Amino acid sequence: MSAVTAAEAGFLSCHACGLVHRAPGAGHDLRCARCGAALHLRKPNSIARSWALLIAAYVLIVPANVLPVMAVTSLGQTEADTIMSGVIYFLTHGSWPLAVIIFTASVFVPMMKLAILTFLLISVHRRSSWRPVDRTRLYRLTEAIGRWSMVDIYVVTITVALVRLGNLATIEAGWGAVFFAAVVVITILAAESFDPRLIWDHCDARST
Ligand SMILES: [Zn+2]
Repeated sequence: MSAVTAAEAGFLSCHACGLVHRAPGAGHDLRCARCGAALHLRKPNSIARSWALLIAAYVLIVPANVLPVMAVTSLGQTEADTIMSGVIYFLTHGSWPLAVIIFTASVFVPMMKLAILTFLLISVHRRSSWRPVDRTRLYRLTEAIGRWSMVDIYVVTITVALVRLGNLATIEAGWGAVFFAAVVVITILAAESFDPRLIWDHCDARST
């Protein structure tokens, strides 16, 4: 049994509606015959775009962790918490399940996602043919876990709402939360820009 990729057979499909077209020579500005979307064999500038977004995420993750995520004012005293100091607070005050949720959602998952995308980009850059199935699985994993990293923003929002209701203290979301949300969104865009078919291009070339 031999499988042929669409690119090898001279076909390309529309990203928007899926209609398959016969590919003419390179260098054409192609449009889908059915829906008018731009056609390309691989996402254009996939690697450069993913790198740019990934580097932006690495830069923004610093203020996201250093700046306070929220500030609580109670009895005239203001206490600002970063992500890690929040985790430590919940750990020392016996709410370890909350500490685990916040650590997983705001430290572990975003870091894992950045690490996986960096690894995939380097492997494609080096034209690696190492375990393409596993690398494709890793890519699917980043898409699957990505949606859970926004949990942290919900935790901040719910805490703010609860404390406001109780009137015991004033609580405000800090700049750290803004940077954190930016990291999450930019990482999602970086994963979106990466074309997982690039993983297979070098492997297919070797096997034929
Ligand atoms: Zn189309």
